Amino acid sequence: MKYHDLREEVARVARQLIDSGLVTGTSGNVSASTPEGDVLVTPSGIDYEELEPEDVVLVDVEGKVLEGSLEPSSETPMHTGIYRARADVGAVVHTHSVFATTLACLGWSIPPVHYMLTTLSESGRIPLAPYTTYGTEELADYASEALGEGHNACLLQNHGTITVGERPEEAFSRTVVLEEMAEIYYRTRIAGEPILLSPEQVEEVAAKISGYGQTKPVSTDQGE
Ligand SMILES: [Zn+2]
Repeated sequence: MKYHDLREEVARVARQLIDSGLVTGTSGNVSASTPEGDVLVTPSGIDYEELEPEDVVLVDVEGKVLEGSLEPSSETPMHTGIYRARADVGAVVHTHSVFATTLACLGWSIPPVHYMLTTLSESGRIPLAPYTTYGTEELADYASEALGEGHNACLLQNHGTITVGERPEEAFSRTVVLEEMAEIYYRTRIAGEPILLSPEQVEEVAAKISGYGQTKPVSTDQGE
């Protein structure tokens, strides 16, 4: 079976979503793009605790099943649509995590309320994609438009979250950050009026986090 390591990573991240409490039941899904441009996606309706690498379904970028005995996730069109729109994306994680989805149900996006948001978005803002029925091409379009080129996360109105990364592990860690940021924003809004970072502050911290302008030290023969 092709892509064993990538299948293993997709299955591991699916289990981590359950273990972390970000997903309950089968409400989330994970995918990764293969070197050939096809997509490995978690199957529909399977308990992720028992998910094995061979259960992960291989589909083409239009969602046609290439390999696998199980049905791919019902949200596969959203995953494949994002890969078609963003060549730099290698993995997609989708959840209904509680705080981020709470904001999405309020119709809120997340403003630059904390510097860690710059790891998810150049502008420090997390956009909100409009509502439409799950599993549709329309939702894929709305999610891709919300992500644009500069966001690695977005909220889906009345639905949940999307994060993207080069690898499933990276998309997962961004989901963890997104949920933390959503909880902080929700709590600050309940308690009062949050102080937002200015565009200059966002730019400065984004440059620092991305290591902009930093040159790698030349390796020495001092071992580690
Ligand atoms: Zn969903």
